[in-house]
Amino acid sequence: MPPRRIRISKAIRRISIMRAMFITRRVEFSASHICANPEWSAERNFAVYGPASNPHGHGHNYALEVTLEGEPDAATGMLFDLKRLKDILTEEVVEPMDHRFLNREVPPFDHVVPTAENLAAEIWRRLEKHFTPGLARLSNVRLYETEDMFVDYSREAVSG
Ligand SMILES: [Zn+2]
Repeated sequence: MPPRRIRISKAIRRISIMRAMFITRRVEFSASHICANPEWSAERNFAVYGPASNPHGHGHNYALEVTLEGEPDAATGMLFDLKRLKDILTEEVVEPMDHRFLNREVPPFDHVVPTAENLAAEIWRRLEKHFTPGLARLSNVRLYETEDMFVDYSREAVSG
C-alpha cells in the first residue's frame, strides 16, 4: 500500500501567555524618628516600642526599593524611564526625608507614628500619583529600616 500523504497545516496557533514584568529602583536615605504615641505615657510607649520610644530620637539608614509593573514599550523596550523614576523618588522621598527628624519635619509624622509600616504607606501615597493605570503602575514599596527588617506595601494590599 503506498504511503498516504499527510498535509500539515503551516498555520501556527498563537498562544498568548500573560506574564508580569517588574522593574525595581533602589534609593537610600537617613532619618531620625521617635516611635511613640504622643497620647500615651512614657511607660506605656516603652512597653510597646521599647528603646525606639526614647524621646530624644534615634536614626536609621533606610533603603527603599520601589517596584513598577507593566509591559515594556514596543519602541523603547523600557517599562518605565529609570532616570525619571529616580527623579520621582528623589523629589518625593529622598529630598523631603533625608537627614530629617521625621516626627518634627515631615508631615504626617507630626501626628502619625513613623514606624516602617507607616513610612511605607506614606511613600506609596506620595508615589502613586506619578504612574498611569494601564501603563507602568506602582506594584510594591519595600522599605528596609535595618538590613534585617523590611516592610512590603503592595498593590494587592491596597486595591484588593
Ligand atoms: Zn527606629
